[in-house]
Amino acid sequence: MVVFLLLAGLVLVFLGLTEFLYVFIFGLFYVIFILTLSTNVRFNYFVKSLSSVKTSEKKIAITFDDGPSENTLEILKILEKYQVQAAFFCIGKQIETHPEIFRKIIASGHLVGNHTYSHTRKMGTLNTKTTTREITRCNEVAEKLAGIKMNLFRPPFGIVSPHTRDALKATGMLSVGWSIRSFDAVIPSEEAVLHRVRKKIKPGGIILFHDTISRSNNTLEQLLLFLQEKDYQITRLDKLLKINAYT
Ligand SMILES: [Zn+2]
Repeated sequence: MVVFLLLAGLVLVFLGLTEFLYVFIFGLFYVIFILTLSTNVRFNYFVKSLSSVKTSEKKIAITFDDGPSENTLEILKILEKYQVQAAFFCIGKQIETHPEIFRKIIASGHLVGNHTYSHTRKMGTLNTKTTTREITRCNEVAEKLAGIKMNLFRPPFGIVSPHTRDALKATGMLSVGWSIRSFDAVIPSEEAVLHRVRKKIKPGGIILFHDTISRSNNTLEQLLLFLQEKDYQITRLDKLLKINAYT
């Protein structure tokens, strides 16, 4: 960024305003390009994330982010009713607040993964040391409260940077993204969320929901009925990706 500003300044001084505008516009597009790549885990630009698998079999995985919360219990009831195993990417702080719900997720046959300790909005700006600490602190809480060593990581907001890449290398964890984002935390209409997810259903896909939002409960049940009707088999994330959830 500093180099770009220096270059733009030199162009302005030595070549004139038109050239400066060309350089400025090019720079602006470059910044937007990098921001787009870093804020979308699906592009695999800085970090290679597993976001789907190529298969012709009608298999799909369901994942939940941001719990455990009180509402997770409602999600667990629905999953049990339909005999479905899912994955929950949990926030360390939330595990500390609801350790019994965290243990219940595991005891119910679902898998759990790391979603950082504090789920800070500054994730993209953290240095490698702080990013690594966010990941290891969440792992430590999970190990202390449930005796498991998590191996899978999902970046909050899907934001990744070269520091995330280095932190994952240091911790030896695997990054898992998604291919079907429900936007359940953003879109207020259950019907609109369901419509969006249904349209994107594809073999080998990974669906992202949030177990913290009560309006997702009905959406989830409707989706499970839809998947049943379409003969989809809901496969636990680690089995779909053929990876180990724990070490
Ligand atoms: Zn999140």
